[in-house]
Amino acid sequence: MNQPEYKIGAGHDVHRLVTGRRLILGGKDIPFEKGLEGHSDADVLVHAVCDAILGALGCGDIGEHFPDTDPAYKGISSLVLLENCRALMEERGYAVNNLDCIVFAERPKLSPHKKDMEENLARVLKTDPGLLNIKATTTEGLGFTGRQEGIAAQCTLLLKALNIETQNHRKDQHGFKSL
Ligand SMILES: [Zn+2]
Repeated sequence: MNQPEYKIGAGHDVHRLVTGRRLILGGKDIPFEKGLEGHSDADVLVHAVCDAILGALGCGDIGEHFPDTDPAYKGISSLVLLENCRALMEERGYAVNNLDCIVFAERPKLSPHKKDMEENLARVLKTDPGLLNIKATTTEGLGFTGRQEGIAAQCTLLLKALNIETQNHRKDQHGFKSL
């Protein structure tokens, strides 16, 4: 199969807000009275991005790659999981074209942290922060995010093949003889 020039992926994740945990979003420690519950650091935004990468590559999901029954991932920084996903993406010959994320949280206010989160993601993904976009929204007090029972994150990701020119060139060489 020819390697497509672009591959799109979607990510979605939810974690419960509980007391006695740190709130880590986009690799940033955000001061808040509650944090997200999970086996790892429960970084809901990074998990959504991991899932989008795996989805775009056709490689399943984050639960299959990093099972929450595996003690190796207990309390781990989700940026490490993202690093693993990036390595897989590189191995398959892709890089991030652009990434658009939405975090659904009633509180705390995330706008002061968005730039740091974008920089963290860009560093791990080895891409320009200008290709990443993080939006934060409330749900107007509605639903579990509105009641501050949890935080959700979604993202859409486009990957671009790294060596598509080389491939096309190869195709020319081994294609049908021109008449
Ligand atoms: Zn998660």
